Amino acid sequence: MEKHCLDCGQNIIGRADKKFCDDQCRSNYNNRLRAEDQTTIKKINHILLKNRKILNELNPEGKVKVTKSKLEKDFQ
Ligand SMILES: [Zn+2]
Repeated sequence: MEKHCLDCGQNIIGRADKKFCDDQCRSNYNNRLRAEDQTTIKKINHILLKNRKILNELNPEGKVKVTKSKLEKDFQ
C-alpha cells in the first residue's frame, strides 16, 4: 500500500508507520497546525476582550440589566 507524506504528499518509503518524508516535512506540518491553532486562539481572545469591554462600559459597578436593543444599538 502506498503512503503519502502528510506535508508534501510524496510517496513515503520506509517504515509502515512513517508519516513524513523527513524532519523538514514533519516540522512544516506541525508548524502549520500550530499556526492555525494560534490564529483561532487570537480570534477568540479578541472576541472575549471586546465582550469584556462592552460589559465593563455598561456595568461599571455591579449588577444591572441591559436590554438586547441597547446592546444592538450601542455596540454594532
Ligand atoms: Zn514530505
